[in-house]
Amino acid sequence: MPFLDVPHTLCQSCRQCCHFLSPPEMTPFAGRGEIPLLPLAFNPSGEPLHLIQGDCEGLPVWTCSRLDEASSSCRSWPDHPLDCRIYPLVFTLDNGRPSIALDTTCPYAEQKPLAWFQEKARDLRDRFWNVWSASQKQALSRQFALDTFPERILLLPLDESSG
Ligand code: SF4
Ligand code: SF4
Repeated sequence: MPFLDVPHTLCQSCRQCCHFLSPPEMTPFAGRGEIPLLPLAFNPSGEPLHLIQGDCEGLPVWTCSRLDEASSSCRSWPDHPLDCRIYPLVFTLDNGRPSIALDTTCPYAEQKPLAWFQEKARDLRDRFWNVWSASQKQALSRQFALDTFPERILLLPLDESSG
């Protein structure tokens, strides 16, 4: 089910987070194929997910296989992967520590106050991260985006004791 309730009409006019310029960074974990012990929330429908390569003005662009381009809708909605449901919140690394950040390139990021996203980040930690096993967290953390994006605002470290 939706986590952030980003308006469907806003996403239909955007679909930024279903197209990727530089795989595998930022692609859904369910499409990477090599993650052991992937928590169910990252692929609740169990459907295959892969990237389809295309191009835009000469640049390579990958598109999620679950995107219906005609309707600009996700075929898995509302059971799409957790990393899609939480966007513009993103799992990231901050100096090697698993953390949650806000990606300000999503148009929705400016529609709520930062404190609202911080509260959602705590909810994400408590409802999901905190119930995953240590081995699941380690496997996932190796896939988390690196902390090299200036458009991101760091919100919350996930494990105070890690790092
Ligand atoms: S970038 Fe934000 S507004 Fe655009 S499709 Fe993704 S979640 Fe929706
Ligand atoms: S699963 Fe749906 S929301 Fe997630 S990237 Fe693919 S089309 Fe977009």
